[in-house]
Amino acid sequence: MKQSASTKPNLTPMMRQYVAIKQQNPTTVLLYRMGDFYEMFNEDAKTASRILGLTLTSRNHGGADATPLAGFPYHALDRYANRLVKAGYRIAICEQTEDPKKAKGLVKRDVIEIISAGTATETSFIDEKSNNYILGIVVNDGTAGVSICDLSTGEFSVEEIEKEKLSEEIVRVDPAEIIAADGGEDPLAGLSEENGFAQRVITRYDGWKFDRDNAEEVLKCHFSVASLQGLGFESYETGIRAAGALLSYLKEQKKNDLRHISSLIPRTLSRYAELDPSTIRNLELLKPIHSDDKGGTLISVLDRTCTAMGGRLMKRWITHPLKQAPEISDRLDCVEWLKKDVFVRGEIELLLKQIFDIERLIGRITYERANARDLSALKNSLNVFPKIVKTLSPKSNNVIRGISQNLEGFEDLALRIDETIVDNPPLSLREGGIIRKGVSQELDEIKEASQNGKKWIASLQETERKNTGISSLKIGFNKVFGYYIEVSKANISLVPETYIRKQTLVNGERFITPELKEMEEKILGAEERLSSLEYELFVSLRTEIAGYCSRIQKAAEAVAMLDVFTSLAKIAADSGYCRPIIREDSNIIIRECRHPVIEQMSIDEQFVPNDAIVGGKDAQIILITGPNMAGKSTYLRQNALIAIMAQMGSFVPAAKAEIGIVDKFFTRVGASDRLARGQSTFLVEMIEVANILNNATDRSLVLLDEVGRGTSTFDGISIAWAVAEHLHKTPKCRPRTFFATHYHELTELALLFPRIKNMHVKVKEWNDKIIFVRKVEDGSCDHSYGIQVARLAGVPEPVIKRAKEILANLESMELTPDHKPALARHDGETRTSEPTMQTDLFFQSPQVIKDPQLENIKKKLDTIEINNLTPIEALNHLAEIKKAVDTPPEQLLED
Ligand code: ADP
Ligand code: MG
Repeated sequence: MKQSASTKPNLTPMMRQYVAIKQQNPTTVLLYRMGDFYEMFNEDAKTASRILGLTLTSRNHGGADATPLAGFPYHALDRYANRLVKAGYRIAICEQTEDPKKAKGLVKRDVIEIISAGTATETSFIDEKSNNYILGIVVNDGTAGVSICDLSTGEFSVEEIEKEKLSEEIVRVDPAEIIAADGGEDPLAGLSEENGFAQRVITRYDGWKFDRDNAEEVLKCHFSVASLQGLGFESYETGIRAAGALLSYLKEQKKNDLRHISSLIPRTLSRYAELDPSTIRNLELLKPIHSDDKGGTLISVLDRTCTAMGGRLMKRWITHPLKQAPEISDRLDCVEWLKKDVFVRGEIELLLKQIFDIERLIGRITYERANARDLSALKNSLNVFPKIVKTLSPKSNNVIRGISQNLEGFEDLALRIDETIVDNPPLSLREGGIIRKGVSQELDEIKEASQNGKKWIASLQETERKNTGISSLKIGFNKVFGYYIEVSKANISLVPETYIRKQTLVNGERFITPELKEMEEKILGAEERLSSLEYELFVSLRTEIAGYCSRIQKAAEAVAMLDVFTSLAKIAADSGYCRPIIREDSNIIIRECRHPVIEQMSIDEQFVPNDAIVGGKDAQIILITGPNMAGKSTYLRQNALIAIMAQMGSFVPAAKAEIGIVDKFFTRVGASDRLARGQSTFLVEMIEVANILNNATDRSLVLLDEVGRGTSTFDGISIAWAVAEHLHKTPKCRPRTFFATHYHELTELALLFPRIKNMHVKVKEWNDKIIFVRKVEDGSCDHSYGIQVARLAGVPEPVIKRAKEILANLESMELTPDHKPALARHDGETRTSEPTMQTDLFFQSPQVIKDPQLENIKKKLDTIEINNLTPIEALNHLAEIKKAVDTPPEQLLED
């Protein structure tokens, strides 16, 4: 930013202070507190007026020319700050740090907090059902250290992953802000814009904060440990650097020691199935692809949670499907129990609804932002725990027992809050009215004194009326004059001499007396002492509760889990889901499978269930053909969604589902399905295809939807063909694959490859028109129906007729003369059925070979057993063969 103000001569002392503070916070919009306003100057003022629509004024602060200025009243801070942060700005809140009344000269000011997208914690800034993640990233030698924190909940974890997996991880975690080192290897270089990097706030932070020693020191100090071995991170390197730097960034921004970040957890990604970014996006797990499709996501169907914590955990579970059968079964057991026991489920739902967001409450309590209402909310939530434990007690499953245990033992804390804080405390912490009677003797005495004083004043009205004979005499109070006696004009003559005149009104006059002022001083003094004493008592209770931080965090996690189980049980019961069977082999067998989202949205068309069988000896790759709009994409997606749901521990929309665990999910959707994204997509499409071919394993599940559509038909078919061939024949890369295509030419693949199976989405032809019946059946589609779709769309009849002619011509050329699919030929393979010398050299019957030289070589080769050769022997044989080649044929014949 241009710092023109600093170069101006004759700045007022206040502007000098402003400029100094601004220089310390150059990358922020500085909100400078002046009395009841936050003011912004110079460039900040212009930004604020643009983003917030504030009027830009200017003020001559002693400078030669005017300083741009914009401001808003202090109570509007949340609203305006929120909008600046959402617009990607970082704001520094600069407060008056001493009482202006007591200040000598200029009031001291300081930045008390910096707020950016990833460091916002106030409820008004962040969505309650989403985590607000900030990521610290550092890359070294192909390894990325990724540290994740949600400042509002205290969640803090770290992982080390291959650099190539970084973009996948970023899409999965979906952070609001990313912190990366300023200088050194840029971890974000080359990450595709496709995955939303443009929309994320990227913050460059001092490179040295990412140094190993510095980072380690920050972590050791925060967690009060002598070495990181105690935390289990001895083998970490980039992870430590990322976590340490992130933590020091957060502390700097919040000017707080962030004690609610009570542990650093290794994020063992090996526990979870991988989801490539394209899968998260295309299966619309959390966000709709087209932002206008509100509700069209898996989370919108599954999330029936009652608490904010449950909502956040549900999101994490959806993007982190498990890979271990026992862990999945444990979750399914809980869902099953809650699904069957309608009574318990109803009971638990009622109880969960009474629980506040204790995870964020304890965060606010620990970093000293909580008010008395937060403490009350915590207490009310803790009071629900024993009822939950009791409701859960008949169930002896491991997971449920774990949940119960984490909810036990908070009775004393709840009681402690209840005994200290009144039932409906005010928002403000500075005006008293928070602490119950009986908590502090001193407080009660002052309260009584102040109340007695007030009573005395109240009785004064009666006494003075009697003494003066003025029946309309009133005692009043205002902030400027304090207590006063008011007498109307008509009665002024009756006022005694002891009254001191203070103020004249239209209809009367106001007086005071020395006694009244004396009592007033007592009352006001008591009230001041009262509120500061109440504040002290409140803060001490808040600090005490902060000591329960990690226990309450565990309880919050338990509540979240129970909430997710209950939610999954509810949707399973309401929508007729079944419990999936988790298999250790690689088969997926789903009967009467539905698309969880579309079945909820279909209003005018009943959703038609379909079977899906993939994996095993004859169905590794399912090739699905059918005309446009038949339901291919839907079928593909529902199968993958069901596997994801099963592995997160959910029941699934099917009559029966057996899921051989999936290690990685891949999705590739043909370019033209996403024209709305406005990208040149063929390259992206191919990058994603490459990623699949390079990384898929036998346990993966791949969806290929119209691959190759982004280029010309011949190119497209060729690429699609080659990809299918590769997935079929490459050892260790034989993923279970659903391959949807409207190129019905590809169905010939099944003629050639045993594990490729044709399926098609059935349509009915009627009067040369098509009717979609949405049924997926064995076998291939006999043609593309493109022409029928064209007719459906109103293309003129002559054009349709001509297209049919051309189609017939093209189709007649599809088979080679020996009735093999023309597409299947390899290079060098003949285009006629005549064998050639080249291909038949060694494989045809011996009499075909007339060349004595070759005959000789063949004899020699036949005697060699390659497996038993030493290198020297091999060389000798090679020499002999060469000699045989060099020998003229005539000589051989003579032999
Ligand atoms: P395709 O990929 O073959 O072009 P889509 O999968 O995009 O077709 O489906 C086209 C439309 O048909 C979608 O709007 C979808 O809602 C509907 N649909 C698909 N499958 C079914 C089904 N099994 N039952 C009912 N409607 C379906
Ligand atoms: Mg489609």
